[in-house]
Amino acid sequence: MEPERKKIDPSITWIANYCKHCFTCVAICPVDNLFFDEDELTSRQKCIQCQLCMKYCPDFALEVVPRPKVRRSPTKEQEIKSTPAGEISSKSVLSTTREGSRQ
Ligand code: SF4
Ligand code: SF4
Repeated sequence: MEPERKKIDPSITWIANYCKHCFTCVAICPVDNLFFDEDELTSRQKCIQCQLCMKYCPDFALEVVPRPKVRRSPTKEQEIKSTPAGEISSKSVLSTTREGSRQ
């Protein structure tokens, strides 16, 4: 029979039957995300998905599945920084031209 898996966080699943309450996961979490509420392992919902708790749990009671990162389009400042020195990106020329034409 499959053990009962409890989703305590969007990326963390905990199996209560496997857990011996050793507190290793609570102690090792770098962002203090895990704590026990009575007998229940609980998440403060600030997991950074480093998987340390899963790796160090001696009883394989935790599973952390990192969620895919959402890529954001770069800001104008990041675009300019990533342009090789001496070159001006076409976007920054365009925006300069537009800003210049307003004056
Ligand atoms: S995956 Fe990392 S941040 Fe998330 S609960 Fe485990 S140890 Fe903490
Ligand atoms: S490390 Fe594993 S066995 Fe220990 S308290 Fe955390 S979930 Fe339970």
